[in-house]
Amino acid sequence: MPLGKWQPFSRCLLSHGKKGYKTAQCCILQPHRAFSSADSVQTADDDLRRVEFSQDRIGSDGSLITGTLPGKQEHAAQQEGRARPAALSPTAPVLPPISEHELQQLVDTIADSRRLVVLTGAGCSTESSVPDYRGPQGAYSTGFKPITHQQFMASAEAQKRYWARSFAGWHEFSDIHPNAAHEGLARLQQRGWVDALITQNVDRLHSKAGATDVIELHGTTHRVICMGCGETSPRQPFQDLLAELNPGAADYVQRLIRAGHDAEAARQRSLRVGSTSVEEARQAQLFKRRPDGDVEIPVRRPDGDVELQDAGKGFIVPPCPSCGGILKPDVVFFGDGVPAERSKRVLALAHECDAMLVVGSSLMVYSAFRLAKAAKTGDGRLAILSAGPTRADAMADLKVEALAGEALSRIASHPALLIPKTAV
Ligand SMILES: [Zn+2]
Repeated sequence: MPLGKWQPFSRCLLSHGKKGYKTAQCCILQPHRAFSSADSVQTADDDLRRVEFSQDRIGSDGSLITGTLPGKQEHAAQQEGRARPAALSPTAPVLPPISEHELQQLVDTIADSRRLVVLTGAGCSTESSVPDYRGPQGAYSTGFKPITHQQFMASAEAQKRYWARSFAGWHEFSDIHPNAAHEGLARLQQRGWVDALITQNVDRLHSKAGATDVIELHGTTHRVICMGCGETSPRQPFQDLLAELNPGAADYVQRLIRAGHDAEAARQRSLRVGSTSVEEARQAQLFKRRPDGDVEIPVRRPDGDVELQDAGKGFIVPPCPSCGGILKPDVVFFGDGVPAERSKRVLALAHECDAMLVVGSSLMVYSAFRLAKAAKTGDGRLAILSAGPTRADAMADLKVEALAGEALSRIASHPALLIPKTAV
């Protein structure tokens, strides 16, 4: 197995370990880093780690079951008043539980801060079944190439193709629920522990979880912007207008949604009886979600009719009602920059904070990396909670690799952070 790429555990070597455990051998990205785990690390050499997972995390076909297991642990969490753990999500990375020591370090970072800025990325939403870009189950690993700003602006055909796919994916994407990571951060913010919440995500899940004043660095799919006059409008009325103008596509999408519900029900049934692997479960999803709400249109027709891939050609996208300009989701596409005013604001927040917590971001995009750099220019503390390497690992004061949902629900329930900050 090549170093530098996560391998799904279903493809790892599995063998029986001590009673009640199986051993998964896998390749991980940072060979010299301790694989922090409440499960145990047996041996480690340059490119191979041996990590034990309890028996109930190994599916009947040998694949690893990710996320928090339903049943015992969930019951225990509810007893302790913690947020409901994230449901099994095929897009979440495979990680062992966070250690008590790491948990305490993250709690201390928050509790000791005067002004805390939280910066979240795609890894914060993977437990809500939104794939990230660069993770093991990420969109890039399946050959996804996001549209660039230049490609979108270049032709009406490109805009039609984009909107036809986005139109098809919106129903599902707009219906996604926040997970324990979003809920944990919202609770911390409500108690005054988070001074600014900046996200690279366009899915609006922080707001859905109850967070306020969320700064959406790269915009949101929930808004449409005119490239001519700059006017913005909510997405849903525009979606309704697209359905009206494209009744054939709207009808096809409705049938896909119904077929998707049937596939999801079958997936849930098979998960309950433990007869499916994570990969099979992923395949069962009719729409392949993308981090920006775009979808991969299934080539196979669910019940025989036109394919929406062809619909891009005849798809009608209306112009801006005010100026006739090109309408685009209010998202910063690759190849475009964060609007100047927003950029200035977040940079000032990063400079002013004395602690920054990065959640689920590899910080590979410069607009996010520069914020981590800015936080470090003073005597700001930089803590990173993210799976896999990040661009800021070398400058981080603390790096923890754990599932964001598990870590943040426990952090938000920690006695030191249960009281409002003003009362400290
Ligand atoms: Zn306009």
